[in-house]
Amino acid sequence: MLLAEKIVMVTGAASARGIGRATARILAAQGATIVIVDLSAESARAAAHDLGKAHLGVGADVTDEALVAAAVDETISRFGRIDVLVNNAGITQPVKTLDIGRADYDRILDVNLRGTLICSQAVIPHMIAAGGGSIICISSVSAQRGGGIFGGPHYSAAKAGVLGLAKAMAREFGPQQVRVNAITPGLISTDITAGKLSDEQEAGVRATIPLGRLGHAEDVGNAVLYLASDLSSYLTGVTLDVNGGMLIH
Ligand code: NAD
Repeated sequence: MLLAEKIVMVTGAASARGIGRATARILAAQGATIVIVDLSAESARAAAHDLGKAHLGVGADVTDEALVAAAVDETISRFGRIDVLVNNAGITQPVKTLDIGRADYDRILDVNLRGTLICSQAVIPHMIAAGGGSIICISSVSAQRGGGIFGGPHYSAAKAGVLGLAKAMAREFGPQQVRVNAITPGLISTDITAGKLSDEQEAGVRATIPLGRLGHAEDVGNAVLYLASDLSSYLTGVTLDVNGGMLIH
């Protein structure tokens, strides 16, 4: 068991076929107690219930400081600490630069980037008080290659912001043994793109992937497990690519 007795908060983990849910399952199977945070309290609770009785589901919008603080307070009063935070909640939008409206920009930047900051700000003091922790931020290959798969330029910018934020937090909180790392998934089959990519588009992307397939949510979840556990105890500030070779630096 790589995460025995660990308390792990995963944001955006209610989506049934999503990266967050697969991550929650994989981490729970390694002994972690999972706290699922998602927009709807009902779906978060149902997702947690699916994992087993020990787990907790809480409704919170990651862009809302008060709701996130309440979710963290509930977790601390129930379990006493948070060892791992997975900043996974995210949204995308397939539009071109000239079509990005102010509201689109705000929405995409708020959930992907500000949400990562708000959740980290709420959890880090508890990690420091407990002597350390591990934060994993889900960015995207879109940040590294300038989009071009699905999300618009504002999504690429938000996810690139996540990489900078994760590295800066890694530098700031390393002395307190809070590790902060990022994962850059390639194209993963989940509801975020379901039905929005034509078969032709999907085949076109597949042709650019050396491993010859789209990613599964579990491919990302297994990488999160590595960064969450002590197997990665000397890693902080890294960006871990999970993209089948779509982007090789
Ligand atoms: P998904 O749509 O299946 O899941 C996203 C989850 O985030 C949902 O449960 C949704 O309710 C939740 N969410 C959205 N806004 C929220 C908010 N404001 N507060 C709380 N929860 C919120 O998508 P997914 O593909 O599983 O994406 C998970 C993460 O992985 C996202 O950050 C996404 O940008 C990133 N990512 C996905 C891919 C891909 O190809 N699927 C590739 C690279 C990165």
